Amino acid sequence: MNNQSTTSVETAGEPIEETRRGQLIEVTIDSLAEVGYVGTTLAQIANRAGVSTGLVAHYFGDKDGLLDAAFRSLARRVSDHARSRLRPISTPRARIQAVIDANLAPEEFDQRTGTAWLAFWGQVLQVKSLRRVQSVYQRRTLSTLKSALNKLVPPEQAQSLAAMIASMIDGVWLRAALSGWREADSASARALLTEFVDRRLQGLRADHGRAAGTAHPKSVSVEAGERFASINPANGEVVGYVNVAGAKEVNAAVRAAQRGQAQWAALTGAERARVLRRAAQLLRSRNQPLAELETKDTGKPIQETLVVDVISGADCLEYFASLAQSLAGEHLDLGPQAFGYTRREPLGVVAGIGAWNYPLQIACWKAAPALACGNAMIFKPAELTPLSAVKLEEIFLEAGLPAGVFQVVQGFAETGRLLTTHPDIRKVSLTGEVGTGKAVMSDAAQTLKNVTLELGGKSPLIVFDDAKLDNAVSGALLANFYSSGQVCSNATRVFVHSAIKAAFLDRLVKRVGAMRIGDPMDPATQVGALISEQHMQKVLGYIARGRAEGARLLIGGNRVTSGNLARGYFVAPAVFDECRDDMAIVREEIFGPVMSVLAFDDEAEVIERANATEFGLAAGVFTNDLTRAHRVIAKLEAGTCWINHYNVTPIELPFGGVKMSGLGRENGRAAIEHYTRLKSVYVAMGDVDAPY
Ligand code: NDP
Repeated sequence: MNNQSTTSVETAGEPIEETRRGQLIEVTIDSLAEVGYVGTTLAQIANRAGVSTGLVAHYFGDKDGLLDAAFRSLARRVSDHARSRLRPISTPRARIQAVIDANLAPEEFDQRTGTAWLAFWGQVLQVKSLRRVQSVYQRRTLSTLKSALNKLVPPEQAQSLAAMIASMIDGVWLRAALSGWREADSASARALLTEFVDRRLQGLRADHGRAAGTAHPKSVSVEAGERFASINPANGEVVGYVNVAGAKEVNAAVRAAQRGQAQWAALTGAERARVLRRAAQLLRSRNQPLAELETKDTGKPIQETLVVDVISGADCLEYFASLAQSLAGEHLDLGPQAFGYTRREPLGVVAGIGAWNYPLQIACWKAAPALACGNAMIFKPAELTPLSAVKLEEIFLEAGLPAGVFQVVQGFAETGRLLTTHPDIRKVSLTGEVGTGKAVMSDAAQTLKNVTLELGGKSPLIVFDDAKLDNAVSGALLANFYSSGQVCSNATRVFVHSAIKAAFLDRLVKRVGAMRIGDPMDPATQVGALISEQHMQKVLGYIARGRAEGARLLIGGNRVTSGNLARGYFVAPAVFDECRDDMAIVREEIFGPVMSVLAFDDEAEVIERANATEFGLAAGVFTNDLTRAHRVIAKLEAGTCWINHYNVTPIELPFGGVKMSGLGRENGRAAIEHYTRLKSVYVAMGDVDAPY
C-alpha cells in the first residue's frame, strides 16, 4: 500500500480503522523515542502493538509509509493546536504567541515527543516524503508568523523575524533534547521565546523601534491594556511605563472629550486664554525637570531641551492664548436690507498624533491652537517617547482646563488608527513620515476628517559665493546636527558655490571635529544619542551607502562607543563631499547627522536641482545680495524658508510643507484655519418678497 492509499484510508475509513491507525502511530512515536529511526521497523511496531506485521503493512505499506504517517500526525497535531489557539485571537502579537505556545506546549515539549521529532529531523534531508511534510509544516508556521508580523513591522523585517522565531523554536527543541530535557521545560522555553520576540519586535518596529538588543529589557506589546516601557536611548535604562489604549479606552476618551469640549467651548476666548497662559507658566516653571525627562526619553542633549523643547511649547501656548481672545468672524454689508456675518466655530473633538523627535513641543504645537479655538484634543505621542505628553496633560488640568479637554492616549500605530478612523473625531493633525501621512489621510477620508500633515523632508540650503562664510557654516551646522540630525526641516543637501566650497568645507570640518558627543545629561554635550538601535543602523547604512556610491566622507560617520556611550546609539556627525544629486544620501530622508555637500556654479542650475525632490518642507539661502535672496526664495518649492539663517521657528510664522512634505500649517494665524469652521449667516432686515 503506497502513501496515497494510506491517505485514502485515513479520510474514508471506518472509525475503528482510524482508531487502529492512530494506536499504531502512537506506538511508532514511542518506538522512535526509545530506539530511534533506524531501530523502528514494521516488525518491531507489530511486536510492540501485539498485532501481525501484515496488519501494520495493510495500514501503512512499508516503513516509509508508517514513518511518514507518524510524522504527519505529529505535525498535524501541532498545527491543529495552533489553529485552535489562533481562532479567537485577532491581535498580531497574540497570534505570534499562539504559534509559540502551540509548538512549545507541555504536551509537545516532552522527552517522548521531542525525541520522535528529532528522529524525523535527522531523516528529512534524505527522505523525500518526510521533507514534504516538514516543508508544509514549516511554511504554515512561517506564513502565520509573517502575516502577524506584517502588521507590526515592515515586510522585509517581518520575513526575517518570522524565520528567526521559527529557528528559535527549532533551536530550543534541539537544546532541550541534547541536554536530556534538563535544560528547559515547556514553561521556560515559552518564556525564552516570548522574551526574544518582545525584544526583537522592540528593535524592529520600523523606525519606531527603540532599544533593541539583549541589553534593554523593554517588553513591547501592541495589545490594549498592556503596558510598555520607554527606554533611554543613551543608556538603555527604563525611563517609565505606559499603558496601551485600545478601542474601549479611545471610545471612553472621545466621550469624555465631548463632555469637556461643550464646557470649554462655552467659555469666552479670554477665559480660555487665561487657562492656556497658566499652563504656559507652569511649563516654564518646570523647565528643568521637563527638559531632563525629555532628554532621557529622546536621547537629545540637555543643552537643547533646556532652551528649546519646553520653552517653544510655552511660547506656543502664550501665542495662541492671545489669538483665543481675538478670534472673530467677518461682518459683510449686503445693502440696506441685509447683512451677513461669519462665525468661527470649533470643530469639536480633534486628534493629534506626534513623532518622537520633539515630543513635548509637538504636543504643544498641536494642542495650543486646538484648545484656543475651543476644541478638545486627544493626543497620541510616538510610542518611543510617550512620557512628556502625560506631564502636559497634568499641567493643563492644574491650569484649570476642564477634564477631558486634553487627553493623552498611548500606543502604537493601531491606537493612532483608532483615532484617525473614529467617527466622532473631526480632525487629525499628524507629525510623522510621508508613508504615515498617506495612511492617516486615507483613513481620515472614510469619515471626511480634516487633516494637517507635518511630514518628512530633504531640504536644500544654498550658499552663494558672496555669503558671509562663518554665518553660512553656522547655518549648515544648525541645518544638520541639532538633535543628532533628527529634525524634519533639516537642510541635508548643502549646495555650495564652487568658488568657495574649499574654504567652506575647511571651516565646516574644523567645527564639526570640535563637536562634543557624550552623555545627553551632561550640559557640555552637543551631540546626543539617536532614538533607537534600529534607527542608528539605518543611519549607518546610509553612511556606508554614501561611501559605496562614491561620496567622500570628510569626517565622522562612525558609531561612537567609548566608555558608557557603548550602551547607547551614538553616531559622530558626518560630512560628505563630492556628492551627486542621484546618490541615495542626497535623495532620501536619513533623519540622522549626515550632511551632503554639493557644488554648483549657476543660480538657475541650483534652483532646479534644489527643487528636484518629492519633498518640500523647508529651504535656506545664504547670500549678501538681497535681491537674489528674495528671487531665489520665491522660486524654491518649500513651505518654510530662511534667508541667512536656518531652523529657527518662531511661533508667529506658520510652519509646514508643500509637495510630499505635508498639508496645512502649524503656528501663526494660519493654524486657526485648521481648527475652526466657518458658519455663514444671512440676516434680513426687511420684509420677505416671495414670487409665489
Ligand atoms: P512615524 O510616521 O513613524 O510616526 C508618527 C506617529 O504616527 C507616531 O505616533 C506613530 O505611532 C503614528 N502612526 C504610525 N502609523 C500610523 C497609522 N497608520 N495611523 C495613525 N498613526 C500612525 O514618524 P516618526 O515618529 O518616525 O518621526 C519621524 C518622521 O517625522 C520623519 O519623517 C520626520 O521628517 C517627520 N517629522 C516631521 C515634522 C514636521 O513638522 N514636518 C516634525 C518632526 C518630524 P508609533 O510611534 O507608535 O508607531
